[in-house]
Order: sequence, then C-alpha cells, then structure tokens
Amino acid sequence: MTAREDAEALARGIPAVPYVAGGWLSARGLETFDVIDPVTERALASVAEADGAAVALAVNAARAALGDGAWGRLDGPSRGLLLGRLADLLEARREDFACLESLEVGKPGAEPRMIDLPQAVQTFRHFAGWADKLAGRAIPTPGYRGRPTLSYTIREPVGVVAAITPWNSPTMIGAWKIAPALAAGCAVVLKPPEDAPLTSLLLAELCHEAGFPPGAFSVLPGRGITTGSLLIDHPGVDKISFTGSPETGRIVAIAAAKGFRRTTLELGGKSPQIVFADADLDAAAEGVATGIFANQGEVCAAGSRILVDRKVHDEMVARLVARAETVVVGDPFDAGTTMGALINARQLARVRHYIQAGCHEGARLLTGGGCPPRSGYFVQPTLFAGASNTMIIAREEIFGPVGTIIAFDSADEAVALANASDYALAATLWTSDLSRAHTVARAVRAGAVAVNGWSPLDPRLPWGGSKLSGHGRELGWPGIEANTEEKTVTIVL
Ligand code: NAD
Repeated sequence: MTAREDAEALARGIPAVPYVAGGWLSARGLETFDVIDPVTERALASVAEADGAAVALAVNAARAALGDGAWGRLDGPSRGLLLGRLADLLEARREDFACLESLEVGKPGAEPRMIDLPQAVQTFRHFAGWADKLAGRAIPTPGYRGRPTLSYTIREPVGVVAAITPWNSPTMIGAWKIAPALAAGCAVVLKPPEDAPLTSLLLAELCHEAGFPPGAFSVLPGRGITTGSLLIDHPGVDKISFTGSPETGRIVAIAAAKGFRRTTLELGGKSPQIVFADADLDAAAEGVATGIFANQGEVCAAGSRILVDRKVHDEMVARLVARAETVVVGDPFDAGTTMGALINARQLARVRHYIQAGCHEGARLLTGGGCPPRSGYFVQPTLFAGASNTMIIAREEIFGPVGTIIAFDSADEAVALANASDYALAATLWTSDLSRAHTVARAVRAGAVAVNGWSPLDPRLPWGGSKLSGHGRELGWPGIEANTEEKTVTIVL
C-alpha cells in the first residue's frame, strides 16, 4: 500500500462517533457529515455528529467527574501521571497522527512530523509537570480588629472547559487547550473542527487507553452551527477555550457573557515580519518565506505583512520571489511536495477573492496567484509588492499563502505600520542590531515577538493576542491561571 492508502485506511478505522463519559456513543439516530479530503475532494470518513443529547451527556459527565467524582478526587501527581502517559502514547503513535493530519488538513507530512506532533507531545509533558505544582500563595496581611491574620490562596479548577479548535493544526492546538485544563483538574469537552476531526477522535482513543476517568475528557465531533452552538450555550460549561476566526470568537464571547463564563479567545492575525537593512538577508528571506508559506499560509501567526526597509527592498523582493518559486505545490503524499492543499472549496474561494482584490487595488503581483489545473483546493504561493498598509490584502486575514510586501524608510515608520492593524497576535523582526531588536520588540503591539526566527513555539511560552486576535493566554503558567480560580482564605488568629 502507498503512504496515502495507509493513511486513508487509518482514517476509515477511527471510531467516527462522539466519545462521551468514557465510551463511544452509537451512531444510531445521529446525523452524519463527511470529512472531505482537500486533495482528492473525496470523502475520507462519515462522522456522526453530536446532537443536543450527546452534548448534555458529555457536559453532565464532565460535571459529575469533578468535585467528589473520579477525576476531582485525583491529586495533582496522579493527574500528572495520566498526562505523562498520554504524552507517551501520543509519541508512540506520532507517525499515525502525522499521516492523518496530513491527510485531513492537506499539509505535507514534514510539518506535522517536525512541528505539530513534537509540540503536542511536549505540551502534554510540560503540563504533566505542572499538575502537582498548583500551589497557592501565603499573603502577609496586617490583621483584623487588632488580631493577627493568616491569609493564603488555593488554586481550584475552573470546572468544565469547552474546548473548540480550528482545522489548521488540530492536534497541536487541541493539546494547547486540553493539557493545561486537565493539569489544572478541569474536565474537558472538546469540539474539534468539522473539516478535520479525525486526529481528535484518535486522541480520544489514547485518552481512553491512558486511563482518564470517565467524563474527564470527551470529544464531540460536529459542525460549528450545530454541536458548537449547543456546547457554548450549555449552562453546565464554566469556561470556553476557543481558537478560530474573530467572527466565531464574537459569537462565543456573547454566549459566554450571558452566563458570565470565562473565555480564552485565540483568534486570527495579520502579523508583520519586519526586515531591517542590517539583517542577515539569507536567513531573513528563508524565515519570511516560511512565515507566510508554512501550512499553506493557514496559520494564525502567518507573517502576511512583510515590511521591508527600502534600502534592501528590491534585494529582498528578488530573494523572496526566487524562494516562492522553489515551492512545490501538490499532493502532500507525493515525494518532493512542499506545499499542500487549502482545507476546502470555501477557503480556496476566499484566498482567490483576496488575490483578485490585491490586483484590483493596484498591488503588483510578483509571483503565483493561480491554481494548478487539477482536483483539490490548491493555490500557488503568492507575493504582492508595491502595496500600502491600507489595502485590503494588508488589512484582512487571508489565511492562505499570500504575502504582501510593503516598503518603509525608518524604524519608527516600520513600528507605525506594524501597529496600524486590527490584529495583534505575533510579529517577527529581522535585524543584527541588538538595541533595535529590543526597542522594536517593545514598541510593536503583539502577544509574541520573535527576532531572527519565525514563530518559535514552545509550551513554556505564553501564547495569545489582543484586539481582533482575541484575549487571554494559553501555555506556560498563564495556561494554568486560565484554567484555575484563586480562592482566598483568611483566618483571624
Ligand atoms: P471558525 O471560527 O470557522 O471555526 C473554528 C471552530 O469553531 C470550529 O471547530 C468550528 O466548528 C467552530 N464553530 C464555528 N461556528 C461556531 C458557533 N457558532 N458556535 C460554536 N462553535 C463554532 O474558524 P476556522 O475556519 O476553523 O479557522 C480559521 C480561523 O481560525 C482563522 O481566522 C485563524 O486565524 C484562526 N486561528 C487562530 C489561531 C490562534 O491561535 N490565534 C490558531 C488557528 C486558527
């Protein structure tokens, strides 16, 4: 069998039903939806959608698992052991996950092998280590009516966390939500993306095998407008951790506000990559290209606004065009492919719409812009120059392999351009001037700034943005804070 046939067989073998309360529901009576292969446009699997009863079952099982339930009774070290076991199981099955993610998302296998799977494994390991370290604080207080006091805090799990993930990196982004919530002692109900739910359903098998008590972790496949909507409106949910578009993020925020429930919103981006004239241009060209073409540009942190010092503008343009033209677009399972397909026909239409908008607004199309004549949702890596920061292609998130190059004349202008955006998720700086690196890193409004490397991920580092990019932080200690309440206890001695 070919690698593609192996992956297709794996996809067919996954229980394509909700995983709830420690078991798999029967598909009988549930509606189904097809998961479409972005390359062949054929159905990879037919998945049973979680309906209102399944959502209620999952949320109620999660509530029952907390407190005096089997999950709530487990201490931190025991939760850490389970998370560590899950990390080991995921690591052992990493090749299966990489093939499956490549198949359902349409990305070349090198990306999940090098990024998504190692990151997901590390994230579970990192938070396994936090599970027994959720200490409160002892806070000195001056006393109460003349008597001394002892004040301290306790960290308690927020409760039931609804985790809603997007299709671009479902394994890694799923881990970012599940691992800190479980480490904190929360119960998690995951609603994976309808376009790419298979890796999350496979993860349910691993959680089952790891031995998490029933209700600690459930997976509810389904569409956003049905299952997602039912989940965010369920009154038994205490927190919604959402990654996706700002449009859906707003719906989630409104649903959460009705019940004063907590949210973490990881939304989109229009991130700048700033290339100063003193940069190592070889490294910058390679890094900038990775920053906009990795994962077909379907990355929230994609460096889609490429701001280049006018002194090296033409040189960088030539290098970036040359680099773009080395990209091999095709079936992710073909040897040599370095860029796969977009997730679906809607995303392809969206990217094409933006390419047309760029041409209509007068930006200069340097390379790409077309779609290979074959089945699948493919688009060529595309670069525009001669653009201004007010053009649609510089303002709106495209979520495809389309970079917009804009020239600047001073560091102040570069910072002003970088910050003139509705989004504030990430930024990349390319410079060999240490002082400039620190100064500009402070001045740019973004949740994460990388210097001389695009988006180095690490589960120890907080991740998230502001403005249209959302609010709250995942990963590292903030990931624990986002899933715990800090209770104050004061004893009048
Ligand atoms: P989306 O908002 O359409 O969907 C995201 C998730 O929300 C999916 O699971 C979907 O089923 C669910 N959903 C949709 N409508 C819903 C509703 N009414 N109620 C509840 N759930 C609902 O986004 P997408 O198309 O899947 O992903 C692309 C977007 O996600 C881009 O804007 C991208 O920038 C963003 N993104 C952000 C990050 C980040 O970390 N900031 C990471 C990846 C993707």
